[in-house]
Amino acid sequence: MTTEYSAKVQNPYEIAKKQLEIAADYLGLESGIRKVLMHPARELTVSFPVQMDDGSIEVYTGFRIQHNLARGPAKGGIRYHSQVSLDEVRALSMWMTWKCAVVNIPFGGAKGGVIVDPKKLSKRELEHLTRRYTTEISLLIGPETDIPAPDVNTNSQTMAWIMDTYSMHKGYSVTAVVTGKPLNIGGAEGRNEATARGCQYIIREATKLKGMDLAKSTVVVQGFGNAGAIVARLLSEDSATIVGVSDSQGGIYNPKGLDVRAVMSFKGEHGTVVGFPGAQVVSNEALLELPCDILIPAALENQLNGDNAKRVKAKIIAEAANGPTNPDADKVFFERGIMVLPDILANAGGVTVSYFEWVQDLQSFFWTEAETNNRLQQIMVRSFNDVLRLAELHKVDMRTAAYILAVGRVAEATKTRGIYP
Ligand code: GLU
Repeated sequence: MTTEYSAKVQNPYEIAKKQLEIAADYLGLESGIRKVLMHPARELTVSFPVQMDDGSIEVYTGFRIQHNLARGPAKGGIRYHSQVSLDEVRALSMWMTWKCAVVNIPFGGAKGGVIVDPKKLSKRELEHLTRRYTTEISLLIGPETDIPAPDVNTNSQTMAWIMDTYSMHKGYSVTAVVTGKPLNIGGAEGRNEATARGCQYIIREATKLKGMDLAKSTVVVQGFGNAGAIVARLLSEDSATIVGVSDSQGGIYNPKGLDVRAVMSFKGEHGTVVGFPGAQVVSNEALLELPCDILIPAALENQLNGDNAKRVKAKIIAEAANGPTNPDADKVFFERGIMVLPDILANAGGVTVSYFEWVQDLQSFFWTEAETNNRLQQIMVRSFNDVLRLAELHKVDMRTAAYILAVGRVAEATKTRGIYP
């Protein structure tokens, strides 16, 4: 259950605390509030049995952590991955607090995870695991307390099982307990594409600022899940050239450009992008260093460090993933004039449309996709400009600026409410 971290692959919770420290220094935050923000408010570890298809019993361990509740109910996804650890979920929950604050939606931050390789489970086993995990964390979750959503290796079907399990316990349907649900049970139009669309809006603003023509830009995307594949598709619809993409099996590169829709259907058929005809095979590490204008890490944490950051060729890095860049890499990118659009801004479109979904469920009144995208665009563009202004004011990178904005908002809310009792 304990994960070993090295100099190259740093402990994400240590990174998250360091990022907070940097912003707290800029804000001149008093030590009491600093201590409050450094600690997750609630941490639940659960170990639970699942009966496998062959009749045997396996025990899985999972977590649900609420980092901060000062600005509203806790919000954040649930991931299924063999590398999930307590410190990873702590970091991810803290990042959710800042993300909700950057885009100014009324939520605190949370995250959940189960240590499991879901690719090794049958659909029935996954359903049972999800329903039992939901039951175990129902101590914490609820439409007014803590609202999960999809993350790495979970999707709208997972959310449907969570919603159904929670509703069965209550005896009536509680759609607002999770977001990212299928449309026919209270999901929101546009939620599935929202993380990618938000990232696209931020990239459009950044390229404008840098005087780059997005339609003439080349793009590399690491990760081909809900964030990566869809952002590749949306940017190719903006006429950008997608030259490299990857998934957990490896990457593919074609300097002339990849047909993203064809890669998507290839992956649908073969389970990976590797082997896509007409493209060179590259490793996930080499992919990050390919010549391109825009690099989009859309997979896991700890991809860019002080070493490989020196070899990155992109002018803009847009973090569709959470925590792909460590603080050493941030320093290198700042010195090299490479603009990093930080996760808590660049991928906040997902949780923003989760907020819209939650509001629609609570009101039982649903919006069109055009309304959703329009409101999403307004929030993303406003947040980009808020962060940019602070970056210029303090002469810092966009991550530090986003943290100054977010940590400042959460600290203010904490002070306004006062310390109980
Ligand atoms: N898992 C997504 C994230 O990391 C979405 C969270 C949500 O919608 O609550 O932002």
